[in-house]
Amino acid sequence: MQKEKITAIVLAGGSGARMGAACKKQYLLLKGRPLLFYALHAFEEGSIDEIVLVANEEEYCRQEIIEKYGIKKVSQIVPGGAERYDSVYAGLLAAAGSSYVLIHDGARPFVTQEIISAAVEGAKRYQACAVGMPVKDTVKIADGDGFAVQTPKRSLVWQIQTPQAFSYPLILKAYEHVLEEAPDGITDDAMVVEYGGYAKVKLLQGSYKNIKITTPEDMVLAEGLLRWQG
Ligand code: C5P
Repeated sequence: MQKEKITAIVLAGGSGARMGAACKKQYLLLKGRPLLFYALHAFEEGSIDEIVLVANEEEYCRQEIIEKYGIKKVSQIVPGGAERYDSVYAGLLAAAGSSYVLIHDGARPFVTQEIISAAVEGAKRYQACAVGMPVKDTVKIADGDGFAVQTPKRSLVWQIQTPQAFSYPLILKAYEHVLEEAPDGITDDAMVVEYGGYAKVKLLQGSYKNIKITTPEDMVLAEGLLRWQG
């Protein structure tokens, strides 16, 4: 029987504009190493076969991250697109031949081996899964004028993280459908699957530490988390 190939698609094709820094956020230094290093290192150590890196700075990534830190699983670096979903699609095309893919934000440096293994198992069992955590705060749905109109039951509300993991043929088909119809407001990969009703997406517990670095205070949090981990 042919071995199942599991590929991680690590996204670093964004502009990082909300960080307001001169350097793109995925390359800001965290404990002396580019932010993107941490996610690549986690997948290097994890139970996956290959990494497709989506980034526009191929030379920098090769020299300053992949070669410098001996990351061996990156098989391709492909340029990103205008929107996150364009970048994911570029990564999916590069991951042709995979059985399962884990799609991960390169700006989430605290993904762990437990999370990666749970996502791989989740993809095999459910075909579509996303890591997240139940919210700690009460969540309100607002109308367009900023008035609360609904308060969903907190125990049923999750904040969604990455990785999100899928059967490769399923996520490719779901993405092709979404790219053709271009609906508004697609913000994660699970939504792409939900949009066409391709599968029920299983939510798996990640970690409250698995934060996405987006704005300057997130760098302070990340430095604190790294110090705490020792
Ligand atoms: O912008 P946001 O923080 O939501 O992006 C999440 C991840 O997706 C980041 O790692 C970012 O580099 C990546 N991204 C991308 N291509 C885009 C936009 C975002 O690869 N066009």
